[in-house]
Amino acid sequence: MGSTSSGIAIDTSRALFDRACAAIPGGVNSPVRAFSSVGGTPRFMVSAEGPWLTDADGNRYVDLISSWGPMILGHAHPAVVEAVRAAAGGGLSFGAPTAAEIELAEEIIGRVAPVEQVRLVNSGTEATMSAIRLARGITGRKVVVKFAGCYHGHVDALLAQAGSGVATLGLPTSPGVTGAQAADTVVLPYNDLDAVRAVFAERGDEIACVITEAAAGNMGAIAPRPGFNAGLREICHAAGALLVIDEVMTGFRVSPAGWFGLDGVAGDLYTFGKVMSGGLPAAAFGGAASHMAHLAPAGPVYQAGTLSGNPVAVAAGLATLRAADAGVYAALDANAQRLGAMIGNALRAEGVPHRVQFAGNLVSVFFTEDEVHDYAGAQAAATWRFPAFFHALLERGVYAPPSAFEAWFVSAALDDETWQVIEAALPAAAQAAATAISPAEAAQ
Ligand SMILES: *Cc1c(COP(=O)(O)O)cnc(C)c1O
Repeated sequence: MGSTSSGIAIDTSRALFDRACAAIPGGVNSPVRAFSSVGGTPRFMVSAEGPWLTDADGNRYVDLISSWGPMILGHAHPAVVEAVRAAAGGGLSFGAPTAAEIELAEEIIGRVAPVEQVRLVNSGTEATMSAIRLARGITGRKVVVKFAGCYHGHVDALLAQAGSGVATLGLPTSPGVTGAQAADTVVLPYNDLDAVRAVFAERGDEIACVITEAAAGNMGAIAPRPGFNAGLREICHAAGALLVIDEVMTGFRVSPAGWFGLDGVAGDLYTFGKVMSGGLPAAAFGGAASHMAHLAPAGPVYQAGTLSGNPVAVAAGLATLRAADAGVYAALDANAQRLGAMIGNALRAEGVPHRVQFAGNLVSVFFTEDEVHDYAGAQAAATWRFPAFFHALLERGVYAPPSAFEAWFVSAALDDETWQVIEAALPAAAQAAATAISPAEAAQ
């Protein structure tokens, strides 16, 4: 009753989930945490250290989610915890500017060359929402082009065919988003420049901006094809539209300068979050000073936040970025490659059709033999194999993302012990994926 099929005790998580479902919709404060697409009981966590998570029943897991990206250094990194303690001791929020906000802004500007100014906000959603408003304010146009399977937070206009939890729950968009909000959003297939050219040929003078994930990570890891981001830039500029590059997931993870550090394609506006927050609520958007000058109070495009630039969140972000040296990035890259190779070997040994894909050091596995370039390809994979694969890993102490449409996030803290746990868990997980029942078989 209180344990999983392989005998791990999860009574406390079960009890907490029951209680949570009474007080919180679906028992969680962000949908993908609920295990909706994989079934079973979400694990309630009580602590984390380095590469490990510990749940309320005392089970330990190797963390391959890293809080969906932020924790590149591993959990409770001493330098970050110390910075947070020191900041908290000096007061939690002032509602007035601080020097540390300048330092975090300068750290971001120093890493990502096209960004001359940033405004700090509290979440990636706020960053993309504000960047879109700014792009519309600058251009005086209303249409936004986005790509199917890309996720930019839960901004009304950007929920159409979005990735992440929207993909996991199979929603075309969300009830509550009005026709008017969605009508100004054009959704195109990712990695398809011809589709972008066609829309610009027809409506180029109405388009405020194209927003794209620097590399797609919210429908699984799908890198832009060579020339895709550069092509977007060219098409946008020819039509007087702005290119908004969303680096909330890739920023400061895939290189010190994020995806920009890998492909060098300059966007007009950027959004950041996740890693730059160190695990507390902080995010940012930025770009050329001439663009950012349109923002209040310097300009007329309004944007604000009671807790924006919060001193404790800023301290966590700054400490994380400062600790993220070349060794950390080398470890992230090596760990992603090692994890991908281990997953591939295990699935190959069981004859499971699969493709391990990388976008920088984001990793994911698609249960298909075809390379996946876009959302249609991700949806066409045998996602029905994923729940069995996921649960076999979880029961053996490996915490992978509970959705076939999410990237896996390594930290630099993975060590010999964690690799042994992963290596020991993978054969059974691959076997579970191999023997999973397809919907066609289930219907017979
Ligand atoms: C996570 C994410 C967001 C949203 O960030 P939140 O902090 O969850 O609001 C936006 N864009 C991308 C690419 C993301 O991965």
